[in-house]
Amino acid sequence: MPKFCTSPFTMLDIKEDGSCSVCCEQWLPYKIGNLYQNSLHEVWNGPPVRILRESMLDQSFRFCNSIQCPELSSNMLPIITETTDEQKTQILDRNLPADTDIKIIYFDPNNSHANIYGDDFLLRQIKNKYPSQVNLTYDRSCNLQCPSCRKEVINVTEGEEYNKLKMLHNNIINSLFDKPHDNEIILNITSSGDPFASKIYRDFLFNFDPSPWPNLKIGLQTHGGLLTPSNWSRISQWHDRIAYVKICFDAAKKETYEIVRKRGNWDQLMANCEFINQHLTTGFGIADFIVQDLNYREIPDFTKMILSKFDKFDYIAFYLVNNWGTWSNEEFERHAIWKPTHPCHSDLKKILQDPILSHPKVRLGSLEKIAAMSER
Ligand code: SF4
Ligand code: SF4
Repeated sequence: MPKFCTSPFTMLDIKEDGSCSVCCEQWLPYKIGNLYQNSLHEVWNGPPVRILRESMLDQSFRFCNSIQCPELSSNMLPIITETTDEQKTQILDRNLPADTDIKIIYFDPNNSHANIYGDDFLLRQIKNKYPSQVNLTYDRSCNLQCPSCRKEVINVTEGEEYNKLKMLHNNIINSLFDKPHDNEIILNITSSGDPFASKIYRDFLFNFDPSPWPNLKIGLQTHGGLLTPSNWSRISQWHDRIAYVKICFDAAKKETYEIVRKRGNWDQLMANCEFINQHLTTGFGIADFIVQDLNYREIPDFTKMILSKFDKFDYIAFYLVNNWGTWSNEEFERHAIWKPTHPCHSDLKKILQDPILSHPKVRLGSLEKIAAMSER
């Protein structure tokens, strides 16, 4: 059966320079346009994204990084029923008839994306002319200074840069919500910084009234340290519109956390997680862990900690560390434990054999292949 990825049909990721992509740029380094030059509608339906979508329908995935992309590397992409050339053109033109018999199915019924969005969500989305997941990644403000991410603290609160970002933000929000509608949209805030450390995102979360858009939800992607009871109470209008809360831990103990999450407060994180565990009533909880040389030994303990302490986390997801331009090549090679050339790579393979990692909540993603290779 043909494989399919919905990401180029559903996701819009917007960076601070206005450039737009449809997936993690380390997995898919491909820009579909720029919001400083074109409208959101033009970018989302223009020729570059159409070429990319064709590469999904022709099964080539030729722009995708098959090592870094967890779905491609673990062979877990959904399948799409055989489509005719006419149907392919209809998909590209975003005018697939409502009564089409095309189905998009996940192999894994526990797949987090399938569960987050519901059974027929994917098919609905490839008929949608608008993005259904919009990643607000133009403000990199964060109170932490993780060495993998940045060399200094970034906090944009005033001046020319703030005004430019605020204008971009207003342009996006006005384009998506110029009038009431019932399109399904998840605003992901944020994979570039922290939703509560950023003045732009914080002001939006505290003040925006989502009531004219019944199918608007938010996905909070955060380091968790500022997900305090006080900030939670200030986003009460979103409480029943949470698609997911995704917290990136990257450690199972305080000593490691203070290195990989420089300026982070482990005790505060634990207290906030306990609070969220009691108060998250809609959407999913997702516990993330980006694997590098400094934390890979804690993969099993992290899994056990989440399973034993925080039952609202529905998924425990692991990712490979990337070089976001912060490290030199030598530094990256030192941290990239997932590379077979790393001197401790075989140790990682052993750790991935821990039985706890077979728990149904665990998503090994790109580590799946490494774990499978060590079983041979
Ligand atoms: S890199 Fe992976 S998730 Fe991204 S578009 Fe390609 S197949 Fe989909
Ligand atoms: S918490 Fe996330 S956004 Fe903030 S510095 Fe660390 S990696 Fe970057």
